[in-house]
Amino acid sequence: MKIQQFVVIGLGRFGSSLALELMDLGYEVLGLDKNEEIVNDLSDQLTHTVVADATDEEVLKSLGIRNFDCGIVAIGDDIQMSILAAILLKELGVQTVVAKAISILHGRALEKLGVDRVIFPERDMGIRVAHQLVTPNLVDYIEISKDYSIVEMTVPATLDGRTLNEVNTRTRFGCSIVALHRPGGIIIAPTAMDKLQTGDIMVIIGSNVNIDRFEKEAADIN
Ligand code: ADP
Repeated sequence: MKIQQFVVIGLGRFGSSLALELMDLGYEVLGLDKNEEIVNDLSDQLTHTVVADATDEEVLKSLGIRNFDCGIVAIGDDIQMSILAAILLKELGVQTVVAKAISILHGRALEKLGVDRVIFPERDMGIRVAHQLVTPNLVDYIEISKDYSIVEMTVPATLDGRTLNEVNTRTRFGCSIVALHRPGGIIIAPTAMDKLQTGDIMVIIGSNVNIDRFEKEAADIN
């Protein structure tokens, strides 16, 4: 299978962290930034690096940008540059274009240009941290739509040794435990007779309202 190739435009805090993580995950990454120092710092950690202005169409063409599976515009502060780079990636035919927005309006402009996915790292991280602060058992969560999410939650001590049948989240709370992470393995689609253990992480799917109720009441189930 062909290894997916990513081009990351702008290697600031967000772009460089994204690029390095993609490398760790085994993908090929071209990092581009107009700042030579930043590029030099990363040159031996990414597949390819280039010092260039992302709004220079000829440079992007000569790099064969259209052959990349995914382009990420990680320029934040300079909205004009971010928008121009996103337009060029789309026009040059990068399959999927992702762009970071620093404000709602910036995000809306990127969406109008046909950017496939707009991300708001600071806003999303703020929301995520707020959820984690008020729900001590919450490990992580993914929004699957406005009203539904998948969350990862540690098993409270009170549920140690209880079967899924006893906890019965589906009837009590309207949400389902779809997997259990435990040291040494993951149980996908656990059965009613599988037992929860302290230290397990439950993967739960449901409406936000129902998951929220489960999070708040899980420790008091008897
Ligand atoms: P962060 O908040 O993630 O650090 P910044 O917006 O501060 O993001 O950094 C964006 C990076 O994008 C900087 O390294 C900057 O040099 C780079 N950059 C900005 N405009 C361009 C451009 N036109 N072409 C290439 N790189 C750019």
